[in-house]
Amino acid sequence: MRQSTQFLPTLKEVPNEAQIPSHQLMVRAAMVRQLAAGVFSFLPLGYRVHKKICDIVRQEMDAIGGQEFHMPALNPIEIWEQTGRVEAMGDVMFHIKNREGLVLAPTHEEIITFHARQHVHSYRDMPQIWYQIQTKFRNEPRPKSGVLRGRQFTMKDAYSLDATTEGLDAAYDKHEQAYRNIYTRCGLRFFIVGASSGAMGGSKSQEFMVESPHGEDTCAVCDDLSYAANIEVATSILAAIPRLAENPSIEEFATPGANTIDDLIQKYSIPEERCAKSVVYVADDQPVLVLMCGNDELNESKLQGVLGATALRPAEAEELFAWTGAHAGSIGPIGLRTPMRVIADQRLQHVNGLVSGANKDGFHLRNIDLDRDATIEAYHDVRTVRAGELCPTGCGKELRVVNAIEVGHIFKLGTKYSSALGATFLDENGKEHPIIMGSYGIGIERIMACFIEQNHDERGITWSMSLAPYHVHLLGLGMKKSESVRAVCEELEKAFTAAGIDVLFDDRDESPGVKFNDADLLGMPLQVIVGDKNLSAGNIEVKVRRTGERRIVALDDVRADVRSLLHGLA
Ligand code: ATP
Ligand code: MG
Repeated sequence: MRQSTQFLPTLKEVPNEAQIPSHQLMVRAAMVRQLAAGVFSFLPLGYRVHKKICDIVRQEMDAIGGQEFHMPALNPIEIWEQTGRVEAMGDVMFHIKNREGLVLAPTHEEIITFHARQHVHSYRDMPQIWYQIQTKFRNEPRPKSGVLRGRQFTMKDAYSLDATTEGLDAAYDKHEQAYRNIYTRCGLRFFIVGASSGAMGGSKSQEFMVESPHGEDTCAVCDDLSYAANIEVATSILAAIPRLAENPSIEEFATPGANTIDDLIQKYSIPEERCAKSVVYVADDQPVLVLMCGNDELNESKLQGVLGATALRPAEAEELFAWTGAHAGSIGPIGLRTPMRVIADQRLQHVNGLVSGANKDGFHLRNIDLDRDATIEAYHDVRTVRAGELCPTGCGKELRVVNAIEVGHIFKLGTKYSSALGATFLDENGKEHPIIMGSYGIGIERIMACFIEQNHDERGITWSMSLAPYHVHLLGLGMKKSESVRAVCEELEKAFTAAGIDVLFDDRDESPGVKFNDADLLGMPLQVIVGDKNLSAGNIEVKVRRTGERRIVALDDVRADVRSLLHGLA
């Protein structure tokens, strides 16, 4: 492809609206242009990468027996009403004003189930894996990270239909493997975490995550990624807090001005692990006091799971005072004005010598022995892990707490959609059951943006061979003046193309500096640089974009050299 005729409007300046590296680079490298918030056009260079990702996804889905569909983005709202998801999706779903009864699909469980209901009637009709690579519409509240979170984006969504839970397990495992292959082939460093399935409903689910400072999820990961979990469920190994030999009676003492754990530590020299912090929550309208150790952070997801509550919120200041008799900072599990459930973090089990609020402003209790002095309903793990704590697998390594971006999600849906929509089949004995389903999603543009987040430097993108828009960037320097440079470039372009190597040939009448900058920004894996100076000695220069390694190569050896270099690049 000749750059002089290619539409490739690269930019020197970082566009204002772009906050994160992938967004900045995709705009500067002429891959995308923003049309509206969260809505992007792909320009030819960017679309080449888009297609390459789709090809990889398609190959891996076909390899597990997936059959490709193409379903409409315009959906009748009734189907969505039948599963209750018009309400569950809320503002995320786009509704159409001048054609009532139609919505834009944010995902396709309902439509797949509709087709399954039409034609899958017997256990003999299954298993099935149906997938598509198609446009989704979601009215994301504040899309600000480029194509990472678009209002219109491309998703590979797949659905499995099975007659048995063993069938579902097998389909799920196949998808997990296909996803591992896809991300590996795309060159992403990823990890997998178990996740809660939120509005989708179902049993088991896993998210495929990419570490990035711009991720909206927080995960705890072991150094070698052998353990990874969303912070909402992550655990760690902590040394037990020993019981103190001396166990005097509980006593009240004045603590003027001590409102935080740090105040107790600093002003009263109490070790952090002997401070019990009390927080009060309202779970389904009932107050619950939760006792945490020191400055440990309470994990609301864990607490909600433990309490089995549908609604959970921290108590308001007035409620706190009314129920305990004190303000935040002086609250404790002993002597509450209104008796309430008391849950404690498992770290506090059997601990004595504790200090906690006395439910009287400016006073605390000391020498508390939880076994002796308090009524604790149960001890549970309700704390948020911190970086540096030990991996729960017992491998002895420390956990890191990182931000991460979700690039894919696999769910065991079960029968939620088939039951709601009446998609049933007859088993061997002629008995009717709802079809057992799985749902599996991958964001195509998200893979692209995540790849760039992980593969760039201060000069631009550093593509892998599998996703690069072109394998080789051929730079002809001073072509206007030098006939021989032009002739050599044209010959190389032909030879590379014939060898199945995609070449972008910079034949523009631009200075070497401009060409080098653009080549580094666009980031093709290999740059082949043809200039008069080297050529007069029968040589050209080859540069590996990712490492910056440069070689002077004899013209006769260029083809073989480029082929072997490309082969060696991932
Ligand atoms: P998120 O928590 O990031 O909003 P999600 O849980 O809504 O993601 P799913 O419904 O599981 O995502 O969609 C499957 C995949 O589609 C995600 O793993 C992600 O790669 C991609 N995806 C979801 N929303 C968007 C979006 N707004 N823009 C681009 N890709 C998206
Ligand atoms: Mg979402």
